[in-house]
This record gives sequence, C-alpha cells and structure tokens, in this order.
Amino acid sequence: MTEIICITCPRGCRLLAGASNGGVTVTGNRCPRGEAYGRSELLHPVRTVTSTAAIQGASISRLPVKTDRPIPKEQIFACMALIHTLRVQAPIAAGSILYENILGSGANLVAARTVEKAALPLQ
Ligand code: SF4
Repeated sequence: MTEIICITCPRGCRLLAGASNGGVTVTGNRCPRGEAYGRSELLHPVRTVTSTAAIQGASISRLPVKTDRPIPKEQIFACMALIHTLRVQAPIAAGSILYENILGSGANLVAARTVEKAALPLQ
C-alpha cells in the first residue's frame, strides 16, 4: 500500500492506496473525491501547472499562467521549459490561450490574469 495525502481539499486526508484483485483499493478518504484522487495518484498522477511567462509591452514583466487542466506529472519539467521560451505581448485577457495542447496532453496554457498594454512600455 502507498500512503498519499489527499490535496483535493484542505482536510488533507491520509490515504492508503494499493492494487488488489486486479483493481485499486483506496482507504482513509472521507469522501468520494479522495478515492478518485488516490486512484489517480497510484495509476497516473497529474498536476495543474502554474508559473509565469515573460510579457512585453506591459507594466509588469511576468504574466501568471496555468494549464487549463492537469497534465501528467512526468511532463511538468518539459512544460516549464516550454513556458520559459514564451514571450507574450500585452494586452492579454485572462483565460486567453497562449499555447494549445501542451506536449500532446490535451491541456492548453492560459493567461491567469488580464494585463493591459502599458502607456510607456518597459525597456
Ligand atoms: S478525501 Fe475528501 S475530505 Fe479528505 S482531503 Fe480528500 S477531498 Fe478532502
């Protein structure tokens, strides 16, 4: 059995997940979301990626960005490397897609906030 802390809500239940009879057994969850989380963590862990990307023509230099759905955990470093290469141009609206189908995961990278164009762009 693998011990997993459920991060789905602030209660942080301590789960035990393991293979049994050709399936997966999860115990320690206080609700069905914990069972789904434990199963996912055991079979194929995923995470929503949050970071910042360079933005030009704005009064700030970094734009908060995130994936619009979780991606496989093993793709996180490649995703971060991709974000590092982006140069977003202001203005940009929250929710705008900056990169589609990251690494074939089906997730898009989106702007996490609206940023207006600066009156005098930063040099
Ligand atoms: S099992 Fe349910 S109650 Fe417990 S942390 Fe996960 S989501 Fe929250």
